Order: sequence, then structure tokens, then C-alpha cells
Amino acid sequence: MIQKIQFHDTLKGGIKKFEPLNPKEITLYTCGPTVYNYAHIGNFRTFVFEDLLRRFLEYKGFHVKHVMNITDVDDKTIAGANREKKSLSAYTEFYTEAFLEDMKTLNMLSPEIQPRATDSIDDIVALIRTLIEKEIAYLAEDGSVYYRVAKFPGYGKLSKKKLDGNISGARVDVDEYDKEQGADFVLWKKAKEDEPSWDSPWGKGRPGWHIECSAMCMRHLGETIDIHAGGEDLVFPHHENEIAQSEAATGKPFVKYWLHAKHLLVNGEKMSKSKGNFFTLRDLLEKGYDPMAIRYALLSVHYRHQLNFTFESLKEAREVIEKLDNCYFQCISLLHASDKVIQVLKKPAELASAINLESTLKPFYDGIISALENDLNVSAALSLLLAGVSEINRALAGFQIADANLLAAKSFFEKMDQLFGFDISCIEALPNEIISALGKYSEARRSKDFETSDKLRKELGDKGWLVKDGRPGEPSTVKKVRRAWDIKK
Ligand code: AMP
Ligand code: ZN
Repeated sequence: MIQKIQFHDTLKGGIKKFEPLNPKEITLYTCGPTVYNYAHIGNFRTFVFEDLLRRFLEYKGFHVKHVMNITDVDDKTIAGANREKKSLSAYTEFYTEAFLEDMKTLNMLSPEIQPRATDSIDDIVALIRTLIEKEIAYLAEDGSVYYRVAKFPGYGKLSKKKLDGNISGARVDVDEYDKEQGADFVLWKKAKEDEPSWDSPWGKGRPGWHIECSAMCMRHLGETIDIHAGGEDLVFPHHENEIAQSEAATGKPFVKYWLHAKHLLVNGEKMSKSKGNFFTLRDLLEKGYDPMAIRYALLSVHYRHQLNFTFESLKEAREVIEKLDNCYFQCISLLHASDKVIQVLKKPAELASAINLESTLKPFYDGIISALENDLNVSAALSLLLAGVSEINRALAGFQIADANLLAAKSFFEKMDQLFGFDISCIEALPNEIISALGKYSEARRSKDFETSDKLRKELGDKGWLVKDGRPGEPSTVKKVRRAWDIKK
């Protein structure tokens, strides 16, 4: 298979041809959440981009071995557990479950492996031991183990920072007393009272955040992997340190392609609790926004462009999802309709054959794939998807729609779902019994028998079908309730 895929690689700097280590299987590591709270929409901007990356590679025929870690021990999780007077594991398990549920809500594919840091302590300890043996790490007087940055010549190659003892931006914790140099970072923190800790050759303690990812990544995917991704804030120090740890231990390149998503802004500003523009996914669901509209809003801007999240953008996203829903619903309802209904809704075969949707849609498919091959140009891909749907709508409006065309349209939606995950193709076709109940409903309204029409409306509603009354003289229609906006609160 000749690959035309290219991605922007933060390490080499620029757009590079994608050549995987193994032509069939791609190894992908994405830094997962720190489970001290519900994930916010900024986190999901990055996670949804990573989901698109994976879906696209799978669409191209690769098997993607995807690992996403769960950071379940760090300062924030420990502080949260103490605040709520819970054990660390009870506290983090709650937010891990919530995160997995949110992933499903946003229709994200499950990673093949989701290792927890606290389940990976042996691997972490083994990696630190190797680094100490190579004199790249040292046990300091304060009882913690640090990474000796000056011993790794490639330090700074990802973030393009120069090592001058105290790298600007490097976090210097107040409790890191005995580091040789300011830029050295902690691998193993000596246990403090009231904090969870694990045994190690250096006494009781807990791992630093950066070493967790190096250990889990290499444990599950090998010493050199294809793609490592995260948000732009992770470039330094997290990913820089991951490179330093892994490469110093193995002597091999750690990652072939580094992909980083730009941070999400809300109404042009950084998301922060104090500004009141901080939203978790759950906040938006509570406000009545539909998960797929949220997914669309988070996905539709290229991952290296700044996404400015606004409620206006959610409204536009809803309109797009509705357009896709309606078109697909019409197609499958026509496909599944009984013969009697077909006679009403479809044109005779000689008219229907005037259009061949399969060949009409071909250039749209091709365009969508080449847009994504070009460093995941999602906005170009999505405008082609919408243009394809307009073609289907044109065919539907002209009644030029034979079964072959309906099947071509259905398959278009199914493929787009595979790629973008908007889950359009799980909409049910209009069942015949609902059509006939709707006929009775319209008849009752026409004859002003509102008692019967109200009863029928309720019966349909109980089965999940929402009746929409037509204008005078026009028939009423019905729609499956499956989006948040269909549910009248
Ligand atoms: P954390 O739970 O803080 O470890 O972050 C999980 C992921 O979300 C990381 O890949 C971060 O880079 C990413 N992230 C955090 N804040 C934002 C934001 N405002 N926009 C986009 N990605 C973010
Ligand atoms: Zn990480």
C-alpha cells in the first residue's frame, strides 16, 4: 500500500511523510487524563483529535495498537483524596469511571490498553533502576531520585529549549531540596506522611508523572513507537522528559512522530474557573447540548489551529448534525418502506435511474481521504462531507432515488461514521407501524377528533417517536427521539 499520509512532527519540526515502523500495525500512545476531577472540554478537544487520528489510520487499513494511560497518582489526586477523606484508589476510581463514561458519550473508540500508573509501579521502578545504573539518575540527600538532565545531550530537542542549568518553564517544586541542578526532575518522590506510597530500592515513595508515561508506553508498545500525542502544554516538560528518560535507558529513539494539539480557548480566552468559562463535558450535557454536536464542535477545527469554543459554534454544530441526521433518516426510511409506501414516495424506475449516486459521491470520498492524509485537514474533509450530503439531498428532492442510490447513500454515511464518529448511521428507519399510526393521527386531526390525536401522539411519544405537526394541508411527520434537543424538558 503506497502511503501518502503526512503529519506535522513537533520533534523534526514541520510536515513529514508518515512511514510507520511496521507497515501493518501502528503503535500509538496518547497521554490520558489525570483523574482528580471530571475532564473538561479542553481535554476532550485533544482526546477527540486523537480519536480522529486513530479512526483515520484504521480507515486506511492499519491496525492501531492504542495505549492511553490513566494518571491516578500525583499531587492533585493525592490532594483531592485527602480533601474528601477517601483512599487514593477510591477517589481516582470514581473519576476514572466518569472519564470512561464521557469517552463513550462522545463516541470515542476505546484504547486497546488503558494502564493505570498505580498498576505499573514495577515497570516504573525497573526503569528508574536502569537510569541509576547508567548514572543518568541519582538518589539525592532528600531521599528522592532525580534525573540528571546534564547527562542527556539531546535534552531540549523536542521543545527546542537550551539547557542552561535552570531551564525556563521547568517547574521547581519547593520540596525538591537536593537536586544537583534546577533543571533536574524527579523520578521517585520520597514518601511524605499521610501520602500513599510504594516500596522501592530507595525506600517508600511514589513515582513522578513523567516516568509513569515512559514506563507504560515502553511496557505496552515497545522501546520505539510510531506516534505519541497530547496537547501542546505537554511538549515541555512532560514529553521532553519522556524522551530523556526513555532514550537514555534504551539508547534507541523513543518516538517517530510527535503530534500536539493546540489548546482550546473559550470565547477567545483561556478556560479558567475564575472567569466562569470552564466547562466539563457534563456541564454542557446538563445545559441540554447533544454529545454529537459537542463532538462536532471540538473536532471541526484543525488540531494545530486554535479552536475558539463558543455557544454559537455549538449551535452551528447542531445544525450540521441535524442535516446529516435528516438526510440519513430519509434514505433509510425509503429503503425500508413497504411496497405500498414506496409507490407513494419513490418515482418510477426510469426516472430514478437518471442519477448514479455511487459515482457522484466518489470524488467526495476521495477528497475527504486526501484532506485527512494531509495532516488531518479536518475542516476541508468536513466541508466535502457536507457537499456530499447536499448531493444526496438533491437526489432525494428530485425523487431520483432508486434502491441502488439509497444503498450508496447509506454506505456513504456508514463510512463517514467510521471516520468521524458522529454516529449518524445508528438512526432507525421509519417502521411501517409508525407510518400507519401517523396516518391515523393525521386523519384524527383532520376530522378534529383531538382526543384520539392526543392519545396517538402520546402513544408514539412513549415509543420514542416525536410527532411534528405539518402546516395546514400538509401531513404531520415523525422523528425518532435520540438527540438531547429532541427531548422537550
Ligand atoms: P491532564 O488531565 O491535565 O493530564 O490533560 C489531559 C490532556 O488534555 C492532555 O493531552 C493535555 O494536553 C490536554 N489539555 C489540557 N488542557 C487543554 C486545553 N485547554 N485545550 C486542549 N487540550 C488540553
Ligand atoms: Zn504522558
